[in-house]
Amino acid sequence: MAYEIDETHDPKLESWVESANDPETDFPIQNLPMCIVRVPGADEVLGVRIGDKVLNIAKLISAGSLQGLPGIEEIFGLTSVAVYEFGQLELAQRSAFRRRLSELLRTGAEPLVERDEEWRFLYDLGDIEFVRHEISDYTDFYASAFHATNVGSMFRPDNPLLPNYKHMPIAYHGRASSIVPSGAEIVRPWGQLAPTDGGVGSESRPTHEPCKMLDYELEVGLVIGRGNELGSPVSIQDAEDHILGMCLVNDWSARDMQKWEYQPLGPFLAKSFATTVSPYIVTMEALAPFRTPAYERPAGDPRPLPYLQSDANRERGGVDITLEVYLTSADMRKRGLSPVRLSKGSFKDMYWTIAQMVAHHTSNGCNLQPGDLLASGTVSGPTRGERGCLLELTWDGDPFANPPRVVPGTQRTPIELPTGETRKFLADGDEVIIKGYCEREGFRRIGFGECRGVVKAARDS
Ligand code: MN
Repeated sequence: MAYEIDETHDPKLESWVESANDPETDFPIQNLPMCIVRVPGADEVLGVRIGDKVLNIAKLISAGSLQGLPGIEEIFGLTSVAVYEFGQLELAQRSAFRRRLSELLRTGAEPLVERDEEWRFLYDLGDIEFVRHEISDYTDFYASAFHATNVGSMFRPDNPLLPNYKHMPIAYHGRASSIVPSGAEIVRPWGQLAPTDGGVGSESRPTHEPCKMLDYELEVGLVIGRGNELGSPVSIQDAEDHILGMCLVNDWSARDMQKWEYQPLGPFLAKSFATTVSPYIVTMEALAPFRTPAYERPAGDPRPLPYLQSDANRERGGVDITLEVYLTSADMRKRGLSPVRLSKGSFKDMYWTIAQMVAHHTSNGCNLQPGDLLASGTVSGPTRGERGCLLELTWDGDPFANPPRVVPGTQRTPIELPTGETRKFLADGDEVIIKGYCEREGFRRIGFGECRGVVKAARDS
């Protein structure tokens, strides 16, 4: 595999940026995730988060601190840069860039000298605005077999997992235009809701009204670095070379609209009203210590076709990212109550790996482009506390019980909030907060930061 553990992952490394040495921080010197920020007096620039600061890479280049790194100055020039430009570098160039940043920021290195307001390297979070990176295309997978089985049991009790599921990573093409940065408001969408008889009666008509079953989906996003030529599939061996890094994604979903529209062509307006991404791209280099074997398929499951398997993928295709979802209602925030945790699971439980997603996506010759977002699908695990959306969390069924216990999707046990409020789905004013982090004995904990969004009331008509 291409991403190896090296001296930049040494848990003893500390930074002269003091806040990066806080054991609780998501952003120690071992992480160094990328982000696009608008800084005072400049356009959008590529930044790197360290402790509670963001480092301006364009300024680092102006100061000559990145001299001698092959490819870096040619690509970035002295102006603002975008993630997709960086992503196109060769792996060796990206690793050299990470090493140089690590050297510049570690304790004992010469601190970067800031002459005045116009010549700053490090910004406080309050002085900058996070912007999402350029995304030309967005694909959403369905890679958790636990999620697919739970949802399938609700929508098709007799037939929860369709026959193709264990042979290929299922996905649909989403909208890149409605992807918003963390913190952006989510307006409850309007849509067609099924007639009460499900549309089978000849007199029945659907309604057009605000969605009543608004949900979140806890997902992880892959950001594509190097693309591939149209007509040239990426092999599973090379697949991870094309991934720049990973972020958190909330694929907001209108379940009532989805149920009525999803057959025969898949999700459409139930998903395309908004998708939130977290500000930071945690690089594949930073994630190297947290790789795990691919999810072990239960006995009896089919082996993937040859183009979807490799030894490296089996041995290290998984990524152990702990993922948590928190919720606050408007009332909870007013009363100063802490967010409640709704679930906690891990990305290592996904049935399909990130390399399999890229290999399958390009197997027909489809071209991925730098900056493209490939979301994983809802990350759910085997237990109730690991379910990554409300559709599953408030559902009373249990497809894994023996014998399977499947209750129609309308029977739901609401979640109780500390204010006494209850939720089957999201209410106006609710804020959903997704967090992600990686931990492993002998390594420094790194985190993804947060992916947030507050639900706003639907427009009047
Ligand atoms: Mn999704």
